[in-house]
Amino acid sequence: MTETIPPHGGQLVDLLLTGAEAADAARESENHPKIEIGPREAADLEMLATGAMSPLTGFMVEKDYRPVIEEMRLSSGLPWSIPITLSTDDQGLKRIGRSDSVALVLDGRPVALLNVEQAYRRDREAEAEAVFQTVDRAHPGVAALDRAGDWVIGGPLRVFALPAHETFLDRRMAPAQTRRAFAERGWRRVVGFQTRNPVHRAHEYIQKCALETVDGLLLHPLVGETKGDDVPADVRMRCYEVLLESYYPADRVLLSVFPAAMRYAGPKEAIFHAVVRKNYGCTHFIVGRDHAGVGDFYGTFDAHRIFDRFEPDELGITPLFFDHAFWCHRCEGMATTKICPHGDEDRLTLSGTKVREMLRNGERPPPEFSRPEVADVLIEAMAGTAPA
Ligand SMILES: [Zn+2]
Repeated sequence: MTETIPPHGGQLVDLLLTGAEAADAARESENHPKIEIGPREAADLEMLATGAMSPLTGFMVEKDYRPVIEEMRLSSGLPWSIPITLSTDDQGLKRIGRSDSVALVLDGRPVALLNVEQAYRRDREAEAEAVFQTVDRAHPGVAALDRAGDWVIGGPLRVFALPAHETFLDRRMAPAQTRRAFAERGWRRVVGFQTRNPVHRAHEYIQKCALETVDGLLLHPLVGETKGDDVPADVRMRCYEVLLESYYPADRVLLSVFPAAMRYAGPKEAIFHAVVRKNYGCTHFIVGRDHAGVGDFYGTFDAHRIFDRFEPDELGITPLFFDHAFWCHRCEGMATTKICPHGDEDRLTLSGTKVREMLRNGERPPPEFSRPEVADVLIEAMAGTAPA
């Protein structure tokens, strides 16, 4: 089978036990102290278990946590931009005591065993500054960090049950599965697209520009935890489905969901999103304007510039940088400031607030802004919702 690109660190990690091994680990978990995990850690656990976070084999020990924060590298020197940690509080730490293993429990069900290599104190401020570039609690990532316990437990994982999902079951693919799907389609070069927003013509244009130069497109909308005012994942997925039906060649696109939780770490998360997509088998990754940003915490192109801090072969995956796209009446097509010489008066631009207002009123934005099929999905979803 031809491989598009090797995983980060060379080997696709697989922490998921099966059969008798899984049964044994589940039984063993009954004898260990328990740590309850929430949706964010569950998303990390799933990505660790399936190899999406290769080469990580568990939650980070301090030897990796420190250089990730300070230099965007694991202790091995491999690029990694975001700490992947498991938190607990004083009580949790007391409960663990001298035990060498803990059972991770999700919604009352044990799912994994963590071999406790180390418990260490979280450097909250340094982490916030490094990852989010702010300590302002108005930032959703800083707020989440603030809620996390003071202690971090690190060590390798053995996973015997993945988080149980009820949604998008036919769209959930682990890295080994997307890699196989690419091979079956004969794709050698695949571009990944990450989004947490509804898909408008601007996104379609960027995706298709990228697809022009490679064999296939992995549409990989993030469906893990997002902040409350983001458009719900099921609505975003319906938008993609109606769009694909009418406007994309079926043999060039794979739509699958990305189980990660949103961290809103802007540039640092752009690196993370790229490296993780490499594990899914993508050779290229689209980085948009203010990728993974929130509010005005990051500069528009910070998430592009951060890639310069690595040698291209260190990351392996090739970032494709895009500016904001729009319809230009004089170009008579989609464009960006890079290729369109015209002024604002010729360009169709609508603010997010304006678009939401139109949709709430049951009004389709112009077809040059949104495909009517997508607009109808959003109108139906937003009918009767209150203004943000
Ligand atoms: Zn133009």
